[in-house]
Amino acid sequence: MREWIERDKSAIWHPFTPLMGMVDPLMIERAEGVNLYTADGKKIIDAISSWWVNIHGHSHPKIANAIAEQAHQLEHVIFAGFTHQPAVELAERLLSILPDNQSKIFYSDNGSTAVEVGIKMAFQYFYNQGIKKKKIIAIDGAYHGDTFGAMSVGERGPFTEPFDPYLFDVAFVDFPSKEKEEAVWNQFEALVSAGDVAAFVFEPIVQGASGMRVYSKALLNRMIALAQANDVICIADEVMTGFGRLGTLFAADQLQNKPDIFCLSKGLTGGVLPMGVTSCTDKIQAAYRSNDLMKTFFHGHSFTGNPMICAAANASLDILLTEECEENRKRINRRHLAFGEQIEKHHLVRNSRVMGTIIAFEINTDKDTSYFNEARHHLYPYFIEKGLLIRPLGNVIYLIPPYIISDEDLDYIYQTILSFLDEYDSLAAVSAD
Ligand SMILES: *Cc1c(COP(=O)(O)O)cnc(C)c1O
Repeated sequence: MREWIERDKSAIWHPFTPLMGMVDPLMIERAEGVNLYTADGKKIIDAISSWWVNIHGHSHPKIANAIAEQAHQLEHVIFAGFTHQPAVELAERLLSILPDNQSKIFYSDNGSTAVEVGIKMAFQYFYNQGIKKKKIIAIDGAYHGDTFGAMSVGERGPFTEPFDPYLFDVAFVDFPSKEKEEAVWNQFEALVSAGDVAAFVFEPIVQGASGMRVYSKALLNRMIALAQANDVICIADEVMTGFGRLGTLFAADQLQNKPDIFCLSKGLTGGVLPMGVTSCTDKIQAAYRSNDLMKTFFHGHSFTGNPMICAAANASLDILLTEECEENRKRINRRHLAFGEQIEKHHLVRNSRVMGTIIAFEINTDKDTSYFNEARHHLYPYFIEKGLLIRPLGNVIYLIPPYIISDEDLDYIYQTILSFLDEYDSLAAVSAD
């Protein structure tokens, strides 16, 4: 196994991983349900759905079989001028579960490209009508992906700094935390009434990468209403929130006002194969329905609409739409709520919040910042040591498990978090002496 790690280190550049001082990656040999198994036989419970994508558990036989069958029949075909049953079925099924105002599906490769397509669709919607609108509004702290358009509409920070000169201008409103709701509304109103706003991009209800931050549905509803009244295209990035993550199939199911464009990925294929989807309303397509060839949406990827990936997504939808899956999401939500109440009382914990199948809380860093910065470095290895994959965002610990996770596994995870807090508590007491 050592040899494989060395070969990895000499050949592979891993995502979000420094080349120097890199911790040895874990070799995973197989995975089943919520469990990952390392090459040396250790079991690790995947409490974060492998980067928030896996909703039905690993190596799901139904999805695996669907991919295998499709691979033997039609593995890939160019998607311009050609089509196939799995793609048509998937598009129809997605439209049947998305809000009623959605009427067309555009396929791409991942979450970032789903957002790129959404932004390009919105810009060209105006271009095709000869309307000059240039501005785009986003929310502070947003994460929409790592390609240039997606980076442009996301939070600017250390990760984007080398590229900042190349990112297009975006008007950011503050993150609408409780105290800031009215201020954010005023910022938004001022921007929209200035007139040349083409689009408003947002992660509905929960911002994922900025630390599972929740904001007001009522405010988002008002923002969408104002935007739409001013012909500003509302782009909902449901890459993380889609496919049941917040309980409902989509976050927008919890909003009265429905966005114009949806960006989907992560859970779309059950987290098994990469795929992006951008859906839009009839109003948006109408600007492209023209005999003028120049009004075509000239965008596509080599693997757009790949049949095996569509088959995986169809199989994942079969599972997602069962009563059992809905029950599981409700069960996780109930368990999270109870744990949230329990953990909130711990003096090292603040702002615990539950959104559907996600629970997040902050380790209280007020007491001794340097110590708890240190603690963050210990946190990930501590949980791995206990057979748990948890990957904190700064001082935010969160769980975003596959929906099939058992009560026993949830209990073990909750218990391990409590032990972690208690151990750090006693360590902190020692270091204060
Ligand atoms: C993960 C994520 C993306 C990017 O998706 P990739 O598939 O990693 O490119 C975009 N938006 C949100 C909200 C995400 O959580």
